[in-house]
Amino acid sequence: MKLPDLPPEPPRALRLRLDRDALAENWRVLDRLSGGARAGAAVKADAYGLGTAEAVPVLQAAGARDFFVAHWCEAAAVLAHVPAGQVSVLHGPLTAQDAAYAKATGVKPVINSLRQARLWIDAGGGPCDLMVDTGMNRLGLPMDQLGDPLIGALEIDVLLSHLASADEDSALNEVQLARFTSVCTQVPSRRRSLANSAGISLGGRYAFDLTRPGLALYGGIPCPALNGQIRQVGYPQAAILQTRTIQPGDTVGYNAIFTAEREMRVGVASLGYADGFLRCWGNEGFLLHKGVRLPLLGKISMDMVVVDLEAAPDVHEGDWADVPYDLPQAAAITGLSQYELLTVIGRRFARI
Ligand SMILES: *Cc1c(COP(=O)(O)O)cnc(C)c1O
Repeated sequence: MKLPDLPPEPPRALRLRLDRDALAENWRVLDRLSGGARAGAAVKADAYGLGTAEAVPVLQAAGARDFFVAHWCEAAAVLAHVPAGQVSVLHGPLTAQDAAYAKATGVKPVINSLRQARLWIDAGGGPCDLMVDTGMNRLGLPMDQLGDPLIGALEIDVLLSHLASADEDSALNEVQLARFTSVCTQVPSRRRSLANSAGISLGGRYAFDLTRPGLALYGGIPCPALNGQIRQVGYPQAAILQTRTIQPGDTVGYNAIFTAEREMRVGVASLGYADGFLRCWGNEGFLLHKGVRLPLLGKISMDMVVVDLEAAPDVHEGDWADVPYDLPQAAAITGLSQYELLTVIGRRFARI
């Protein structure tokens, strides 16, 4: 069915400002901290919720040449900005169709198992990456299968492994480093890569040829060593749809869990849990207006939240409130991880 021609959409009542300079600077900082290795970029999950179409060109211009997504459905949005040989799909081929898609597009599959190696070779093979499990027991080829002839038949660009506890001072880091070093002597590859964002701060021995930061590119601070070096990138804002004055004894929102003790001016912001503003923001949660805190009142709804405007008499309908998205601070308030806070950001935000 053909849709009728519609006029351009009016501006959205939710917007996510992307600080492109901060994103580019974060990549350069992580590239520098990677020493002799080059930093790539994990851009899976829509560039951690901030928007592939906006983030990838910035990272590319800053100098990133290796882009990692998780799913095959995420490759096309990256290919709009980056040559196919610079894109890797971490989940690898699950089906022959995935392998055929890799072959047809030139995107590199990350091979994670003998079954995936077989699928790739049967599809015609060509440059690929190989993920070896060195102790996380998530995705990746077990080390005791490295000698299989199927692995010998692969044309490996990047040999990868992934650290389970890089954000902690854990004995597992050295164990995984030693195992990966041994893997590198057993499997020929063009390049080697072990460190994610937190892994970069473990020092030069973990850097190899290529690092794969994700979280820290987008303003996340996974470990104290990156404090003061990484800048916030995403700034969400919500419009105030309505203001009202409520009386002592009036309640706010679903289940009436907030009761006013005095006359109050309140605002209704166009932001709810469907936008990733989850109920775990709870009683300590707030929005901001020109740096002034607007405490949340009552339960967060799907599309709205009510805030106290007492401290901000200058806020009116149509004004914008800032969502506090300093990631370490937001994680402390909500109990969510910095990764979760980014990737739950909803689709109704205009990325600007
Ligand atoms: C997500 C991911 C990364 C990026 O990790 P961060 O902790 O966000 O820096 C790197 N490598 C692999 C294999 C990943 O899945």
